[in-house]
Amino acid sequence: MLNKWEGIILRSIPYGESNKIVTLYTREAGKMTAMARGAKKPASRLAAVTQTFTHGYYLLRSGRGMGSLEQGEPIDSMRHIREDIEATAYASYIVELIDRLTEDHGQGPNVFGLLYEALHAINEQYDPEAIALFVEWKMLPVAGVHPVLHQCANCGATEGEFAFSFQEIGFLCHRCFQIDPYLVRITPTQLRLIRTFFTVPIEQVGSLNLKKATKQFMKKIVRTIYDEQVGVRLKSRSFLDQLERTPELLPQKEKPEEKGE
Ligand SMILES: [Zn+2]
Repeated sequence: MLNKWEGIILRSIPYGESNKIVTLYTREAGKMTAMARGAKKPASRLAAVTQTFTHGYYLLRSGRGMGSLEQGEPIDSMRHIREDIEATAYASYIVELIDRLTEDHGQGPNVFGLLYEALHAINEQYDPEAIALFVEWKMLPVAGVHPVLHQCANCGATEGEFAFSFQEIGFLCHRCFQIDPYLVRITPTQLRLIRTFFTVPIEQVGSLNLKKATKQFMKKIVRTIYDEQVGVRLKSRSFLDQLERTPELLPQKEKPEEKGE
């Protein structure tokens, strides 16, 4: 059976002399893995369209065993992501996270939309760190984690002082603080921020404008949840951590004034 699908390349690994095994996330049918015959040869018409991050239309033949990628027609090659080391690092992290948290033919709630909006926003030079962080929060339900952020995770109260509990994966009100000795005290502003991150629609991902300290706070919470609840270790994360510790590795860029929460 031959199908034409809109997809984004998550991963492309060399196979044998001249082939690639390509993992793509399609809008219509979720994640797929297919053999792209000859794609490793630079002169192949499949060489460019099978590069990681490419957004395009793909003709896939499916049958018994692994399908084959017959043709590709690029929509966007994500040029900025390819050319900017920081953009590449965060985009690599996003595609690896989505690849690890989804299964072939599985369809998460709008995973394609999230991937599409996130990569296009990074390619349009929005803050890649904020966008990757947003993807981490948005992928929690796909990873099977459903934080309780609209009320106290223990008693259901919506009024009072709140803290974040990794044990309950959500907010605890001051009346319930004693059930988790390791809770993280948060300000009302941080509480609103966590809620916003979890509920803001994907289409608004590009408009997020966050201070460094805010990103660090939000990252610490979401990564602790991933480490404790999901347990995925991503190869691209160690490079990112290194970049974040030593930003002088990056070419100097004009940064717009940071504002927002
Ligand atoms: Zn409570």
